[in-house]
Amino acid sequence: MTIRSVLVICDGLRADMVSPDACPSIADLARAGTAFRAHRAIFPSATRATCASTATGCRPRRHGLHGNQMVLEIDGVRDVHDVGRPEFRDALEAATGRTLLVPTLAERLAGAGGHVIFSNVSPGAAMFHDPDGHGHVYHRAIAYGPGRRPVDDHAPVAHGATGDRDLTIRFCEDVLARRRPAHAVLWLCEPDLTMHRAPLGSPENRAAIAAADSCVGLVREAVDTLRSEGEDVLLLVGSDHGHETVTGAVPVETRLIEAGFKRGRDDRDVLVATQGTSAYVALAGKAAGRQAEIAAWLAGQAWTAEVAAGPELEAWGLPHGPTLAIAFSMARDNARNGHGVPGTSLVATRFEETTPLLGFGQHGGRGDHETHPFLIAVGRDFPPGTACSDETSMIDIAPTVLAHHRLAVAGLDGAPLQERVTPASIPERRAPFD
Ligand SMILES: [Zn+2]
Repeated sequence: MTIRSVLVICDGLRADMVSPDACPSIADLARAGTAFRAHRAIFPSATRATCASTATGCRPRRHGLHGNQMVLEIDGVRDVHDVGRPEFRDALEAATGRTLLVPTLAERLAGAGGHVIFSNVSPGAAMFHDPDGHGHVYHRAIAYGPGRRPVDDHAPVAHGATGDRDLTIRFCEDVLARRRPAHAVLWLCEPDLTMHRAPLGSPENRAAIAAADSCVGLVREAVDTLRSEGEDVLLLVGSDHGHETVTGAVPVETRLIEAGFKRGRDDRDVLVATQGTSAYVALAGKAAGRQAEIAAWLAGQAWTAEVAAGPELEAWGLPHGPTLAIAFSMARDNARNGHGVPGTSLVATRFEETTPLLGFGQHGGRGDHETHPFLIAVGRDFPPGTACSDETSMIDIAPTVLAHHRLAVAGLDGAPLQERVTPASIPERRAPFD
């Protein structure tokens, strides 16, 4: 019997927004497998680092892609780099001599049936599933095959729900029905794109969720066809993080200048890489000696929540060094927005001019909702109509895929979800989202 796995991510879909009314296809799918009720984002709860964690089964400390922005030092020049841009991959390699520090699923499956990723989020997020070109990466702006050679069957799609649907149809027809790689990934940009541009719970937000849900329905049909032909398919459907409602923005580098820790805008010894509702501080030169003082000052600000510095970052799944000395999450509460959706947070910016739109969604920090994506597994090891209340994480996806393919999973930060689905972990048989 041919073994395959398929992962579909509805970017940004909060677990508490998955219901039979809002997401009929997802709720119906949950009745066919196991719903993981306590599924959690990594830190930061940001897409690009999460793509690398999904691909590797490791946290950023191990795989080396630390967030949506990273401070890199290239040829002696320190600066903040946007991980979402297509040129970031080469910048990371120029700064560190490597891309990701651990193997991806694409590398592990290169000789075992292959790997195809279809992504409609940022180019950087798409590339960090397979930055060294062991399989195929398709994105509206970039597409390459083994050896990172450009492919000639690249069909750009729109960024948004229409593009997600076009991408899904092509994924079902071209990847699932025809090419049939060992592992295929479909990463939709909705509802995340709309959640950043409209209030959580608004009609626009609900329409974006419905659009993503219908894409899940199409993939399920295609997977059911493969199963009817006798293939042993693991279907994982989930999200990468949730969202909180933005109530204010804090220009962190400006505040560090005002507090006397940064000499001026051009002082590259003190840089802030923002992750939406969290941020990192990079320290070099004399500023490196003030790490504890700056961390204590940050912890005393009304606009921060948790702060970690130096070796404390290991517990957050992060490394520590000159380009990442301190991490902190922004202040938040559980107040409801105008649509009754709970969870608000401040966001971090570098300077005043990058203030985001208030009242819309954002993520990246440690809030209850932004760190609570959803996950459903349907396949031979996941009994229909079951739920698992053990805490699981995005780093468990890669080991789960490897276990389904009966490949070694030792040495990863995550663990196979198959091991969590025991009679003890299934409290009762019930429709998971009813
Ligand atoms: Zn995301």
